[in-house]
Amino acid sequence: MTRLSGWGANLHADSVLKEPESEAQIKASIDRAGTIARGLGRSYGDAALNAHGRVVGLGRFDRYLAFDDATGTLTCESGVSLADIIRDFAPRGWFPMITPGTKFVTVGGCIANDVHGKAHHVQGCFSACVETMTVLLASGDIVTANRTENADLFWATFGGMGLLGVVLTATVRLRKVETTYFRQKAIRAGGLEAMLATLDEYDRTFPYSVATIDVFATGSRLGRGVVVVGDHANRGELPARLAANPLRVSGPPRLTVPFRFPEITLNRASIRVLDAAIQRIQARKPSFGHYDDFFYPLDGIAHWNRAYGRRGFTQYQFVIPFADGLRRLHDTLTAIFSAGELPFLNVLKRFGRASEAPLSFPREGYTLAIDFPIRTNTAALMKRLDAAVLDAGGRVYLGKDSYLDAITFRAMYPQIDAWLEVKAKYDPQGVFTSNLGRRVGLAR
Ligand SMILES: Cc1cc2nc3c(=O)[nH]c(=O)nc-3n(C[C@H](O)[C@H](O)[C@H](O)COP(=O)(O)OP(=O)(O)OC[C@H]3O[C@@H](n4cnc5c(N)ncnc54)[C@H](O)[C@@H]3O)c2cc1C
Repeated sequence: MTRLSGWGANLHADSVLKEPESEAQIKASIDRAGTIARGLGRSYGDAALNAHGRVVGLGRFDRYLAFDDATGTLTCESGVSLADIIRDFAPRGWFPMITPGTKFVTVGGCIANDVHGKAHHVQGCFSACVETMTVLLASGDIVTANRTENADLFWATFGGMGLLGVVLTATVRLRKVETTYFRQKAIRAGGLEAMLATLDEYDRTFPYSVATIDVFATGSRLGRGVVVVGDHANRGELPARLAANPLRVSGPPRLTVPFRFPEITLNRASIRVLDAAIQRIQARKPSFGHYDDFFYPLDGIAHWNRAYGRRGFTQYQFVIPFADGLRRLHDTLTAIFSAGELPFLNVLKRFGRASEAPLSFPREGYTLAIDFPIRTNTAALMKRLDAAVLDAGGRVYLGKDSYLDAITFRAMYPQIDAWLEVKAKYDPQGVFTSNLGRRVGLAR
């Protein structure tokens, strides 16, 4: 048995972990008593955990199978990571079309969570860049799924949390870029109303936008923070020192957190110092930023999750509709900041239209993701937040979640029954299962 956890390191499970390198080995590693696929374990909670059951790690199933340099269409095994793709294709002028806030995720993991980036309103979710995939089903059959063939399986696999089968290969479209730099701009907002107005305004002029809230601002300054907007920089606009190497790719992280910090390290005083530093760094962004600073600021420190200590942390991410969004966000932030917990790193963005995938998380509205080191009352706060988000007509992201219950999940995701029909069709015996799947009622 191997003890596994998600990125939050707050939930753990002992499982039989297999790490196959070929299709035949993956087939052989499926345990019909209960199996879940795992990528690089960047989901925060228990999505890739299966207590006392089988976990199939896809990290070694990572070969490229075909690439068309004219269209940027890449076919690869599902364990290929976005970091691999950037390392190997960015120097040739190709970048992932849609990327979450870390590049240490597999293509399979991006599909299973239908991940979103900082430009969801323009680009949609990861499903928007996937042309086709092959899926190993519980029957042992390998089927092709795309918009015309097995379309029900194709759409249900996005946001399906690995519970329909193992994605073996995928054909994804990459984005043509002239440089690996971003033209960027930071705008300070003095309170929540100004913050949302700034996000709304820049939505029309810049594809990428993201805000960070000062977690110590309360009262009339609640929601104060910095919005950073940006777009891919063209070669011609780069300053000379960057233009010399316009498609620069960075290496592995140079810093690391070597062990779990003692819990006292993160306290109100230390978070206050870090929060002020983050606000300052965000507000003083240079005009051009490298993709690692723009998309992946946390990837620069390996194992940064250890800084949250032995009990780990959780990230709470929700989306609520634009209508009445200001009042609802105000109330939710007030609940978060007055709970006596230690909310810390956070990201506020706008989402555009939902994808066709029944369990895909993003839908039109404001989305906030915020970290909490685990303390005695964290679970109780998450429950209160779940109720408030549901009441606002919103939903919580499974890729980050650790606490949602089946009744609340069903109320947040009204297309659950359509998804369960697909599950019954392709996995009637319930072979694919996980701690998260059982918790929220997607698996037995
Ligand atoms: C710092 C940080 C920033 C993040 N930012 C964002 C963000 O901006 N937007 C966003 O959407 N997410 C974000 N995430 C979450 C992350 O993108 C997702 O959780 C992603 O799914 C993790 O990929 P993974 O390869 O690590 O998969 P894992 O975490 O190992 O697994 C995630 C899910 O994918 C399934 N899965 C993995 N491989 C396969 C496969 N081959 N076939 C079928 N199912 C499979 C697993 O069963 C599990 O349900 C962030 C995470 C971190 C740590």
